[in-house]
Amino acid sequence: MGKPSVSFFAMDFVLLFAVMGFIFAVFDLSGLMFVSELFLLLAFIFLLAFGMYMAYNNKKSGWALLSLTLLFLLLDASFILLTAGKFGAALLATILFSIAGFVISLLNMISHPDEVRIEKFEDEKGYYALADSIKSEEEPNIEKTFIPGKFIASRKSNKFHIAKCDWAKRVSKENQIWFDSKEDAEIKGFQADRCVV
Ligand SMILES: [Zn+2]
Repeated sequence: MGKPSVSFFAMDFVLLFAVMGFIFAVFDLSGLMFVSELFLLLAFIFLLAFGMYMAYNNKKSGWALLSLTLLFLLLDASFILLTAGKFGAALLATILFSIAGFVISLLNMISHPDEVRIEKFEDEKGYYALADSIKSEEEPNIEKTFIPGKFIASRKSNKFHIAKCDWAKRVSKENQIWFDSKEDAEIKGFQADRCVV
């Protein structure tokens, strides 16, 4: 899933309708219920945006966060329904689109979109592709250590990449070699990958 999938775009609309429905449902409330639900609304928007950001960056945990948040949104909408006793179109939309979004997130978690990427790396890396892909499963936080503008290579390959390159993101931590410049990498015997301009 190097590029956003169809389900990602479908999710955009589902979340939009779910959140819009919830906004109308919340502004239909009054008193303490309104205040507390307004805070929950902000929390839901933040969590959903963060989940979408992670899902966009091919993180399985993004879909997990989305499904969990939508489950809570669904529970909260049901809670409003039971306590406020008003069953309007807004609440109906929230419930229906939360369920739809929950199902999409769950399917994305199960279908394991990472698999598509591994094939792409096989041309570049030969038989190490599988070994690296298994290892990188255990290290979802590698990106945090990337420094923009620097170059990276794997001990298992002779090519070096820009830190933002998809390939670079899959080099496991113990195999990372960093360079300050292209020249530095070339002196040490590495060749520039296509991503290096
Ligand atoms: Zn590259």
